[in-house]
Amino acid sequence: MATIAPPTTTGVLFSGGLDSGILIGQFVRQKRNVVPFFIRSGLVWQWEELEAARRFTQAVASPYLAAPVVLELPLDDVYGEHWSVTGTTIPDGSSPDEAVYLPGRNAMLVIKAATWCQLHGIGELALGVLGTSPFDDARTPFFENLEAAMNCPPAKPIRLTRPFSKMDKRQVMLLGRGLPLEHTFSCLSPVGRLHCGVCNKCAERRKAFRLADLEDPTNYAAALAPSG
Ligand SMILES: [Zn+2]
Repeated sequence: MATIAPPTTTGVLFSGGLDSGILIGQFVRQKRNVVPFFIRSGLVWQWEELEAARRFTQAVASPYLAAPVVLELPLDDVYGEHWSVTGTTIPDGSSPDEAVYLPGRNAMLVIKAATWCQLHGIGELALGVLGTSPFDDARTPFFENLEAAMNCPPAKPIRLTRPFSKMDKRQVMLLGRGLPLEHTFSCLSPVGRLHCGVCNKCAERRKAFRLADLEDPTNYAAALAPSG
């Protein structure tokens, strides 16, 4: 008879979006205990994202899944007049990848959630970062360095893991089949509670469903001109 591994708990940084939502869904399927972290940074989309994070975790409810832990990490004081704070000149679907880079954000989000994990006896924090991310602060050297810094004694050991680091968007989306992805949210310029349909993230979202040949259940406020 196979030995049953003792239950362990994994923290997951959850933006309310597709990738981290699918990661949580995968862990729940694997019967891993999960504590999602949603971090409020004062950026223009945070309320819709938080609502989505709550809806999604309720929709995949499981004895293995805790309610999201909501942490505060204001960045509007640092970002000032940045579009993520003002909501003006939001990058659209034709913007280059660099346009949506948020300086320092990955490091700060990880440090905040990882510290919570260390203080609560959780030894792993997982991120839904894809291998195809164009940014250096989503790549292996960055996370290795950050993990080393987080493990300076006397801090409790923590591992930073990225289960999707060798996957592309299509592969991740295919893992999302059967999950309530209609409850995720990924838009830089929400219109009420709806995805705007025209920002850089909405374009990426539409493409993600298309790549995986999945029906897009998102209710967009505006149609987007057909594109490749
Ligand atoms: Zn949008």
